[in-house]
Formats: sequence, structure tokens, C-alpha cells
Amino acid sequence: MRRILVSACLLGEPVRFDGGARTLAHPALARWASEGRLVRFCPECAAGLPTPRPAAEIAPGDDADAVLDGRGAIRDRDGADRTAAFLAAARLALATAQAHGCAFALLADRSPSCGVRRVHAGRFDGTLRAGMGVTAALLVRHGVRVFAETEIDALAARLAE
Ligand code: SF4
Repeated sequence: MRRILVSACLLGEPVRFDGGARTLAHPALARWASEGRLVRFCPECAAGLPTPRPAAEIAPGDDADAVLDGRGAIRDRDGADRTAAFLAAARLALATAQAHGCAFALLADRSPSCGVRRVHAGRFDGTLRAGMGVTAALLVRHGVRVFAETEIDALAARLAE
């Protein structure tokens, strides 16, 4: 059984920083759920961050690898350094993926944790830039193949191989 770690907000859980969800409607999700493939997980909640919580972004000039390597920071809208919590979130996600044998992850793009293709640029003005969140980057470092929610069809194709 090839399991998939899934951002909990994509499955309708209201765990985003603003207290909402980012529900992904796709027939593959129901099929995978019935097959027992899905491992739902919110890294930030698991690390003890409250919901709702201030928006946080990887600092301008830093990226997920810099954060993972201790050279970068994640700050919230108020300027507070939240790096330690986001690193803990990433480690918990990795531990969960490994405990459940997840070879794949389906993650909510643009998040400083779960982003796969793009993240916010660190200025809290809605600007996006190419890059990953720290959870996604740590999963990749450990061999988990990560897909943004917009890439669910590509994930389905990989599972069918
Ligand atoms: S940390 Fe990931 S799962 Fe949790 S709300 Fe943010 S994008 Fe969704």
C-alpha cells in the first residue's frame, strides 16, 4: 500500500492560519480515502501553533533550505521569529510520513510549511515566489515525493504506475 501524507486543510479541516480550510474537491481523494491511503496531517497544528494564528512567511532572501540548515528564518506578521515552531512542524510531518510509510505527499501550495512550488515572498503583501515550505523541503530531503494540490492528477498517474 503506497500511502500519501495529505495537508489536513486540503481535506476540509479548518486548520489554516485564518481558521479556514482549503478543501480540495477531486474524485481521487475519495477513492484514496476508501483505500486507506490517506494520512491527514497539519504540521503547524501538530507543532502546537494555535488556530487561528498570525500569518507567517519565510523571510525575504531566505528559502526553505536555509531555514532547515539554520541560516534562515520564518517570521509572523508581527515580526516574531517562529522558526523553531516551523522546524518542529516539519520534523513531526517527516516522522509521521515515515511511521505510516508514506512515499508521497499531497500538500497545500503557498504555505511556509506545505508549499511545493510557490511560497509567499516574506513581505506580507501577497507576493509569491518560487520555492518550497520547510515541511515539503524536509520531506523531499528524505525521499518523499511531494505534489502540490494542483498536481493531484500527476500524483494519480504516479500511483497507477
Ligand atoms: S500547515 Fe499545511 S496542513 Fe496545516 S493549515 Fe498550513 S497548509 Fe494546511
